[in-house]
Amino acid sequence: MSKNKGSESVKVVVRCRPLNQREESNGPAGGIVQMDLRLGQVILRNPRAPASEPQKTFTFDAVYDANSKQRDLYDESVRPLIDSVLAGFNGTIFAYGQTGTGKTYTMQGAWMDPEKRGVIPNAFDHIFTHISRSQSDKQYLVRASYLEIYLEEVRDLLDPKHGNARALELRESPESGVYVRDLTSCVCKSIKEIEEVMNMGNQARAVGATDMNEHSSRSHALFLITVECSQPGPDGRKHIRVGRLNLVDLAGSERQAKTGVQGERLKEAAKINLSLSALGNVISALADGRSSHVPYRDSKLTRLLQDSLGGNAKTVMVATLGPSSQHYDETLTTLRYANRAKNIQNQPRVNEDPKDALLREFQREIARLRAQLNHRKWRSKQKKEQVDGEGWERDGDEETEGEEEEEEVVEKEAEEYVKLEEQRLEMEKEAIRGDQFMLAEEKQRLLGEKERMMGDLRKEQEATEQLTAKYKAMESKLLVGGKNIIDHTNEQQKMLEMKRQEIADQSRSEREIQQQMLAQDEETLELRETFTSLQQEVEAKTKKLKKLYAKLQCIKAEIQDVNDEHVRSRQELEQTQNELTRELKFKYLIIENFIPPEEKNKIMNRLTFDPEEDQWKFQPLVPAESKSSQMKKRPTSAVGYKRPISQYARVAIAMGAHSRYRAENIMFLELDMTPPNTASLDRSAEAEPNQSHSLDNSPTKDRGVRKSRSWCQTPKSMASSSSNVSLAACHTATPMAAQ
Ligand code: ADP
Ligand code: MG
Repeated sequence: MSKNKGSESVKVVVRCRPLNQREESNGPAGGIVQMDLRLGQVILRNPRAPASEPQKTFTFDAVYDANSKQRDLYDESVRPLIDSVLAGFNGTIFAYGQTGTGKTYTMQGAWMDPEKRGVIPNAFDHIFTHISRSQSDKQYLVRASYLEIYLEEVRDLLDPKHGNARALELRESPESGVYVRDLTSCVCKSIKEIEEVMNMGNQARAVGATDMNEHSSRSHALFLITVECSQPGPDGRKHIRVGRLNLVDLAGSERQAKTGVQGERLKEAAKINLSLSALGNVISALADGRSSHVPYRDSKLTRLLQDSLGGNAKTVMVATLGPSSQHYDETLTTLRYANRAKNIQNQPRVNEDPKDALLREFQREIARLRAQLNHRKWRSKQKKEQVDGEGWERDGDEETEGEEEEEEVVEKEAEEYVKLEEQRLEMEKEAIRGDQFMLAEEKQRLLGEKERMMGDLRKEQEATEQLTAKYKAMESKLLVGGKNIIDHTNEQQKMLEMKRQEIADQSRSEREIQQQMLAQDEETLELRETFTSLQQEVEAKTKKLKKLYAKLQCIKAEIQDVNDEHVRSRQELEQTQNELTRELKFKYLIIENFIPPEEKNKIMNRLTFDPEEDQWKFQPLVPAESKSSQMKKRPTSAVGYKRPISQYARVAIAMGAHSRYRAENIMFLELDMTPPNTASLDRSAEAEPNQSHSLDNSPTKDRGVRKSRSWCQTPKSMASSSSNVSLAACHTATPMAAQ
């Protein structure tokens, strides 16, 4: 595959399934779809139009009728894409169409029947066969993921907790584009393993949905395969190429009836086709080529397929049709959709040495384990040689070609060493036991020591075994080219496949040439014709005029159709809008009449819109940064008091009334100053009657714990009075003593 830097268009193929039993029994109307396989054209007949009306013709890269085989579709239209993925391109195949037209049949088919296996199982076969046949200097790592988008939520189908797991988020990185965060991916070593992964996901899908058919026609399923390949480049270093393959089975494209649904059901109905209409808008914007904005962000599906539509990927779209006349409108819509997608230009390129390649991490880890293991084994070998009494030197720098053989020798010798050591220790133990001259205590000690040495040896061996197992498990995940991982790959089969591929290539190029010729024919017909007579010229020109007139009629009809469809979709949108408005009015009525305005305002102020999740969200009541200081401050009490206090109590306190109003400081625990009980002989005290009078009031009457008068009495005055007393007591004799 060449490293094509230029752009290439999305390949669109159309497949029509056979009439089913019910449709056949409905009447002799037959199918409305005709196909010209050679030219890649679909001709659609309108069952309601008069026979004179020209039929609609669409041209595609390839068309597959009711008799087409799964294998043909794969070889012609899918195989080249998978080859590109194996060469390091991104690739996408998606099936689009009305429910029951064969999307799942085309993508998966009947797994058990080799003739009816669809694109996915054939791609598994193709990938692993390619790996087994590639050269032995290539290393591969294949991993798979499986997800579904249901009601605009991305769900991991490989997560064991699928049913209750929360929806996954989409992220974008410059390296790998849009990706799903925390998506499970399983490393697969063989077809069997990858099939198991697929089955596991399919089961989760079936369990998650009560009505499988209903669910599957409303959900998109994406199976993702990443193939990483490492190969030595001309510069001698290993280069990694990463190919990503998206296999997409879309939801049914038919319009879901929206009439008469309300509330949750209405929301659901609005979401069901959101992805598909967003996909339609993206395709229109890309096909138009003039619009600067492509609305990828409108839905999860379009974001995930961003690279596949107009980006770094090769894309094949399989549009599926039903032949029945009942579904004429849907079939026409599908054909128009597919026709538009043909014009999308992609810019695929090889993903070379991306930073996030898992293969490189695996290689590093394997190298590390190998180095550890080698170190252990060399150490054992060295010890053995010391035991054997040989000198041993390792030529460390030289990486010989027979490295692997040498490693085997080392491994054997290491094993031998362990065996010999065990034997030696056993013998020594025997010798100790048999020694009659040794003291029992000494014997015990020596035996214990030998036991310990044996234990160490075993532990060492166990550690080595564990390391080897880890190393082998890790290494087995990397697939190496040239090894026969598939038994049925013999030469004959290879030849057969090559021939088949040749035929497919030939028929593809033949069709391309036919289509080109047809286009050129119309332009050059006129130039090549020379007219011998006027009459002939008139005839020729009339013929041409008729042809052009028919074409004009076709285009006029097409314009009419498009207009009709536009009107129809507008009516539908208006209807949805009316229903939504009605719903809104109902909600308003409740809010206006039953929710107090201040509560409403509080709620409104807390709401913010999250565009990433497309939802309104409540802001937290407490800002995130102040979480630690969540305790609110106590409200301050009435000024001057420690607690709130009523007006009445305040007045009562001021009056010095009942103790009941003393809210605080009822107890006053200050120490009493006991008066001296010694009599003073100083007579001079009698000369100062004033002071003796003041002492008369001294607190001798109420000894012990004294009740405070009131808590609102200022402590200052109390302090000063008591100090007066004490001063007086110190300096003067009490009148009692004087008496
Ligand atoms: P969708 O996934 O588009 O809803 P299915 O793949 O489930 O449709 O197909 C509906 C039915 O039609 C299935 O029973 C399937 O076997 C049958 N069918 C679809 N396409 C073909 C085909 N090309 N040949 C034979 N049977 C087909
Ligand atoms: Mg299906």
